[in-house]
Amino acid sequence: MTMDRRTFLQSTGLAAAAGGVGSLGGCAAAAPRRSAPLTLRWAPYTLQLKHAFTLATSSRTTTPDVLVELEGDGVVGYGEASMPPYLGESPESADGFLRRIDMARYPDPFLIGDILADVDALAPGNPAAKAAFDLALHDWVGKKIGQPWHRLWGLDPSKTPVTSFTIGIDTPEVVRQKTLEAAEYKVLKVKLGRDTDKLLIETIRSVTSVPIRVDVNQGWKDRAQALAMIEWLAGKGIEFVEQPMPKEQIDDLVWLCEKSPLPIVGDEAVQRLPDVVKAHGVYDGINIKLMKCTGLREAHAMITLARALGMDVMLGCMTETSCAISAAAQLSPLAKWADLDGAVLIGNDPFDGARIVDGRVVMPAGPGIGAVRCG
Ligand code: MG
Repeated sequence: MTMDRRTFLQSTGLAAAAGGVGSLGGCAAAAPRRSAPLTLRWAPYTLQLKHAFTLATSSRTTTPDVLVELEGDGVVGYGEASMPPYLGESPESADGFLRRIDMARYPDPFLIGDILADVDALAPGNPAAKAAFDLALHDWVGKKIGQPWHRLWGLDPSKTPVTSFTIGIDTPEVVRQKTLEAAEYKVLKVKLGRDTDKLLIETIRSVTSVPIRVDVNQGWKDRAQALAMIEWLAGKGIEFVEQPMPKEQIDDLVWLCEKSPLPIVGDEAVQRLPDVVKAHGVYDGINIKLMKCTGLREAHAMITLARALGMDVMLGCMTETSCAISAAAQLSPLAKWADLDGAVLIGNDPFDGARIVDGRVVMPAGPGIGAVRCG
């Protein structure tokens, strides 16, 4: 296929600068790509969960979400903020944060690092709202260039990991049913932290022998009891234990990690980039989620740092649509473990994108983050 100069410049976003090529003596690439700022808009969206989602500390049937769009040059970039209530953000807080972003300050959307650092500094916290903006900006830039982010990062789309599927805490009969419904998945994830933990594991083991990852969500308070439970779990085909104890009990976690026959993965303890350094020596691996860490740019940096420190990386998610799951999929070839079943757990996904086929994450085909609005 041939491409004339004008078409090439349009496809690479250089068209606006092309008129000045002569006068700038070939330095057009340094000029801002656009004269008009991108338009940022957002709207709340309630995710309906297929099953009530029960953790050690709470249970719910919906998740508040905000869908974000960045538009310019006929290109729309998508992002979302999924905000489980226990994490402290809400559609109202996201609205308040997103209103502070002045797109007129960012005439060149390709300066992703500068823009996201500026947006991050607008207010502390708000990781999901920041992630929504980060995803939309990555999506817009990728679409403008015409390439998916896994290609821009040089990652092999065939190297996506298998993903676990979460079986929520429930009665033995419902757990057995949910496990049978999850037959497609090669790995299951189970939420523990109640006095029925052993019954839950035994119930799943009565139906399937696939590996199980357990997530305690800080539910065990005593390290000796935690170790006894992990030693019991080690004989049950368990792959690793996620956040077994409260993140503040660092000495207990170091003790547990040294003695545990199973890898210990930090989740609640690891939010953003500086937490990776703090997790080193406390956990064997870390669970990175876009909604915790403000999006793709910081997630990529966290993965790079964790791997350099010799830690294993898990890429996780909240209950979220195929928008954020597709974004996470772009990074997933860098992760040892994936837990990207968030879109499968909701009944009103307004996006198409990354899919899970035979338990494996399938990279979406499109440019940007690869999410397509379909509802
Ligand atoms: Mg977790």
